[in-house]
Amino acid sequence: MEIQKVGVIGAGQMGNGIAHVMALAGYDVVLNDVSQPALDSAMSLIHKNMERQASKGKISDAEVKAALSRVIPSLTLADVGATDLVIEAATERETVKQAIFDDLLPHLQPHTILTSNTSSISITRLASRTDRPERFMGFHFMNPVPVMQLVELIRGIATDEPTFKACQEVVARLGKTSASAEDFPAFIVNRILMPMINEAVYTLYEGVGSVKSIDESMKLGANHPMGPLELADFIGLDTCLAIMNVLHDGLADTKYRPCPLLTKYVEAGWLGRKTQRGFYDYRGEAPVPTR
Ligand code: NAD
Repeated sequence: MEIQKVGVIGAGQMGNGIAHVMALAGYDVVLNDVSQPALDSAMSLIHKNMERQASKGKISDAEVKAALSRVIPSLTLADVGATDLVIEAATERETVKQAIFDDLLPHLQPHTILTSNTSSISITRLASRTDRPERFMGFHFMNPVPVMQLVELIRGIATDEPTFKACQEVVARLGKTSASAEDFPAFIVNRILMPMINEAVYTLYEGVGSVKSIDESMKLGANHPMGPLELADFIGLDTCLAIMNVLHDGLADTKYRPCPLLTKYVEAGWLGRKTQRGFYDYRGEAPVPTR
């Protein structure tokens, strides 16, 4: 199955990165969002990020120009219908994603593969509401997309082999590496990463260590490039809490219960870097631990 044209739905943090790497790999991209400001800022971010890569000598100016000309922004979902592969990367709410697929189905070509970049929603359940569960799967990029090497490919219960193979080939053409995961809550990376972050928050909650000592311990003692609390701030504490809730609900095991301190930070609106405050306060020149 030859994939040449890719539709990306949602032009947020992940969608702009996905459009960026797809265009650089030579795919024609339709980038869709319901918000014109989101599309505008995605297009300018893609431009800025590609120019940064060019200034470091990673890609040429001609490649930037060619790639940018391959990304077509669109507010009309029907424009995504003429693509060979759709990657849905809209807001992480099941009702939003279901409504997108419902609206998109009448415009799709029969061969089009449908995928979702969801971090936590069941691929099998999303697929079951479409007309093509066998050509539906999870295509889970890591953040920031242009930098991170891994893509998790998640098969729903009905996903067929040609669909899986076609997505594997796309990941290879992006110069990235795919890991195959079965469709269980939080897949592989978040299933392992989030309980570690949650445990770091428990370690803080119980007074075993301070923000600084916990992060330093994991950086110097376990050779992690970032401490777990610093990483949680980067991901967003609301996202970390939502994924812990998915693990807790989906696997019904108390070992996944979210730390009350994580809940408290989210209730305070201290969501990490995006709100300038989380386990660190980012409002000054250098991040300052909040505990
Ligand atoms: P985001 O909030 O930055 O962007 C979401 C975008 O979707 C917004 O621009 C919004 O306008 C748009 N949108 C909302 N409803 C829409 C609709 N009906 N049609 C088209 N666009 C619509 O979110 P994000 O962080 O980019 O996350 C997107 C997806 O990627 C989620 O499913 C999330 O779980 C997944 N994901 C996120 C990360 C991460 O670290 N942020 C990592 C991997 C996967």
